[in-house]
Amino acid sequence: MPGFELFGDKERTQVQDVLDSGVLMRYGFDGMRNGHWKAKELEAALSNRMQVKYTHLVSSGTAALTIALASAGVGAGDEVIMPTFTFVASFESILALGAIPILVDVDDTLTLDPAAVEKAVTKKTKVIMPVHMCGSMADLATLKSICEKHSLLLLEDACQAIGGSYQGKPLGSIGHLGCFSFDYVKTITCGEGGALITNSDVYYENAQKYSDHGHDHIGNDRGAEQHPFLGYNFRISELHAAVGLAQVSRLDKFLKLQERNYTIVREALSSIPEVTFRRVPEGGVENYSFLSFYLPTKEITQKVHKSLGTNGIDACFYWYDNNWHYYRKWEHLTNLESLGKLPNEVKNNLPDYSSADFSASDQWIGRTISCLIKLSWTAEEVQQRAKKMVEIIKQVV
Ligand SMILES: *Cc1c(COP(=O)(O)O)cnc(C)c1O
Repeated sequence: MPGFELFGDKERTQVQDVLDSGVLMRYGFDGMRNGHWKAKELEAALSNRMQVKYTHLVSSGTAALTIALASAGVGAGDEVIMPTFTFVASFESILALGAIPILVDVDDTLTLDPAAVEKAVTKKTKVIMPVHMCGSMADLATLKSICEKHSLLLLEDACQAIGGSYQGKPLGSIGHLGCFSFDYVKTITCGEGGALITNSDVYYENAQKYSDHGHDHIGNDRGAEQHPFLGYNFRISELHAAVGLAQVSRLDKFLKLQERNYTIVREALSSIPEVTFRRVPEGGVENYSFLSFYLPTKEITQKVHKSLGTNGIDACFYWYDNNWHYYRKWEHLTNLESLGKLPNEVKNNLPDYSSADFSASDQWIGRTISCLIKLSWTAEEVQQRAKKMVEIIKQVV
């Protein structure tokens, strides 16, 4: 991660195809487009790679999450369980539909703690949304059984974990719906873009209509399309899809590079007794986009993180006080700061997060450092980096 490190001729050729035909829109203009249907081709490639019936490409990962929820009929007042450690898109997509984000602790997998999830289920719960942060996954077998027990929807946010797998299945394909992001910093990028995957005819049909103003896409005449329900514009353009098409053809190569680089760093850090690693659920295979490890205390972790930065080891993150990824800095959610009035369902029912106890999450996140694994590093560069990291960490612990 990120895929932009290895842009090349494939991306250029794909984009040139689109520019040559002049059709930048994913729907219609059949006569002009010279046979180019980049969005449709990328959807087919992803369905094949993810072993699912349907992929629907959209304008972003945030849009994909919103559409996934909408496609299953989630709306005002419904509760959606999400982790304290994620990206702000999780609650943005929930709130966009007037639904209520229910924050739940993470455990040593750095994803939803199933025991805490079980406790948070109420009569209003509709969805459990695990987020496979930093390339590794939630305990999907346990979450799935909780969903079955309470008739809930399992929606996997696999935006940071494309290419990883769980019990032999691609991440994103295990729940009723799965989402990916192809924004500029993800393993596969379109510049901006996202996708949802599903095996459900109903969710897919709803999703493709909802993301294009509720239009039904039946027949060749855009003007004659019916609009059975209200929707929005979350379309992806052919230019963006073209970039993604070039990138996805190299996904397996990217994964191999990430695995090689991750393994070099991990083996080096394993020599430090004070370093332990994030737990990967049984049967899980990471996509190796990050290496996440724990140190014995919060204070040591903060010192190590600072020292890595000042000694030139870039792209290592301390999420505990990160603006985008951890609940502690989400005052805009806690205080419900919005430009206009929010629905009463949200205002009256959002839990009081200012007094919530997420100390179980703090115990893990406070001791976590995650280092981005780059694609462009040579094996020699990673070895030097890993050696330097060991020296820096040993000086602090
Ligand atoms: C990037 C990301 C998203 C949102 O994707 P965008 O394409 O940037 O809107 C959602 N969830 C997670 C975990 C992400 O990392």
